[in-house]
Amino acid sequence: METKKVLLSLFMVVIALLTVACTKPAEKLAAVADFKWQVDQFADLRILRYQVPGFDELTAKQKELIYYLSEAALWGRDIVTDQNYKHNLTIRKTLDAIVEGYKGDRTTSEWNDFIVYTKRVWFSNGIHHHYSTDKFNPGFSAGYFKSLIEGSEGVEFPLTEGQSVSDLAAFLEPIMFDPTVDAKKVSQDSSGDLVADSAVNFYEDVTQSEVEAYYKSIADEDDPTPVSYGLNSRVVKQDGKVTEEVYSLDGLYGPAIEKIVYWLEKAAGAAENDLQREVIEKLIEYYKTGDLEKFDEYNILWVKDTDSRIDFVNGFIEVYNDPMGMKASWESIVNFKDLEATKRVSVISDNAKWFEENSPTDPRFKRDEVTGVTAKVITTAMLGGDCYPSTPIGINLPNANWIRRTHGSKSVTLENITYGYNQSSLDSPFGKEFTFNKEILERVKKYGALAGNIHTDLHEVLGHGSGKLLPGVSSEALKNYHSPVEEARADLFALYFIIDDKMVELGVLPNPDAAKAEYDVAVRNGLMTQLTRIELGKTIDQAHMRSRALVSLWVFEHGKADNVISRETKDGKTYFVINDYQKLRGLYGELLKDVQRITSEGDYDAAKALVETYGVQIDKDLHMEVLARYAKLNLAPYGGFMNPLYTPVLEDGRIIDVKIAYPVDYVKQMLRYGKDYSINLDP
Ligand code: ZN
Repeated sequence: METKKVLLSLFMVVIALLTVACTKPAEKLAAVADFKWQVDQFADLRILRYQVPGFDELTAKQKELIYYLSEAALWGRDIVTDQNYKHNLTIRKTLDAIVEGYKGDRTTSEWNDFIVYTKRVWFSNGIHHHYSTDKFNPGFSAGYFKSLIEGSEGVEFPLTEGQSVSDLAAFLEPIMFDPTVDAKKVSQDSSGDLVADSAVNFYEDVTQSEVEAYYKSIADEDDPTPVSYGLNSRVVKQDGKVTEEVYSLDGLYGPAIEKIVYWLEKAAGAAENDLQREVIEKLIEYYKTGDLEKFDEYNILWVKDTDSRIDFVNGFIEVYNDPMGMKASWESIVNFKDLEATKRVSVISDNAKWFEENSPTDPRFKRDEVTGVTAKVITTAMLGGDCYPSTPIGINLPNANWIRRTHGSKSVTLENITYGYNQSSLDSPFGKEFTFNKEILERVKKYGALAGNIHTDLHEVLGHGSGKLLPGVSSEALKNYHSPVEEARADLFALYFIIDDKMVELGVLPNPDAAKAEYDVAVRNGLMTQLTRIELGKTIDQAHMRSRALVSLWVFEHGKADNVISRETKDGKTYFVINDYQKLRGLYGELLKDVQRITSEGDYDAAKALVETYGVQIDKDLHMEVLARYAKLNLAPYGGFMNPLYTPVLEDGRIIDVKIAYPVDYVKQMLRYGKDYSINLDP
């Protein structure tokens, strides 16, 4: 039941959102006319922009609050960069200095390769790919890199005491250029040591079994309201003993946390109401102490605050980057409620009980009471840390199971981000290339966007929150298979119900054809098109991708006898075509039932078998074919978003208004963040 953010599959959007079938009229979202949605493309990445419609209609006080929270959001960038890998900050500061200070030729192809590498490091907040977590190959030589460092003037490099710039180049050479050094940020290979094999900076000089033993020794298994052990710390060895360095004002990342606290204190002073002020003050207390009990108290208050127009996430939240699934990366999202669109998702959350009762899962694994899912649609105002530039499209928090059960949770859809994806993909040739016939293509064009939004709502608002663990089963029981199984559970819940008559009856979907469009996209993506994001020869690693692959391959295999989904070939190209949508729904229900059992019982062996059999391996011939077809389209599979720029208008030292602007220069924004929001984190 752990909550997850939905990382948008760009393909689902590219295919699905060729027309804007949103519930919201396009005019309303067009805060700025003639807006340039995509501003850059390099490697496998596109840089997009989002608009903040409705910002100008907020009160001066609300804008002031957003401004303070935005500053607090931007100050966490160095934290997540350092969390991702211990040498990332040194590398990023070196790259920034070269971009600013290099006096040599900037027209060569090597320089171009260097700039692409730098942009990728900015995008990933580090030298490992944000999605595959593999280390980048720089694409230029170590010798050239050395000449760039030595040929830069008037800039500061991150030198340690007594280090020359040539020493710096020599130090970074194996780290950046040797593909065998710290090759993987997050290892998912459970045949090895998950901790030792991961480059991520949550652990130093410790093994997986040492980490497991350490947390076993401090966790109280009988505590019905346990803190999130290990959430905000780095595990190290001191004098041969395993211990934690806690993130707090006086601890690890103190200098950055001090800045975050400074802006949060200002935000507390501009809060919309008393409860919101309490929420912010509790968060400050937690940052000051690093006390995880305070974090729980903060979450309980935060869930209660449903009336405020403005809301935010700021802290150590999601655990995807930890192979052990405990340690959280720093992230922030500042937002305000989209009042109109929130009505749509409320219909779904108001009927949560009906969905739980009618789910095909075993009654022993159903929730007894279904309450407390607060669903809303928001307008994103600022992205920070692990949410920038690569952004979730949905958030469901808090993550602690007992808080969700007792106090509820918030489920949030970031609609202006989805809209940005839609708008930037309007003319994409992707859908045509991978769709079997015109009928399916037209259906997906017509309903794909709407169905995609509804799928996200069902996944976030109901899917993750459905079902329960049997007493004594820990949410960490599935270990490294937890994330893909949990994502599959939420996806299956959405897929099973989206085609139910109830959806049309509730007025959420216009007709059953709209649900078919979602099935078309899900099958094609899970069996085929998501492979465009994976290098030939590699396996599927990322939790959401494993989830989509295992769901699709499982129903394909289990529906073979009835020819539910057929594999077709036309002009030498492969397609997957659904022949019986109702039977497919039945298969989704069957798998949902099993995945819920695995989750509720904490059946590690079954989780492992399911994921390893259906969610990891790739048919090499199909992979080659898909990559070749995709390469011809000249598209980039991943997208991320630049932030707007807020400038306060002052009168007698007071903020009387905040102006919003939409910068277009990705390089400039990254260099500015590097200058304005960077501190020396070394003690
Ligand atoms: Zn999810």
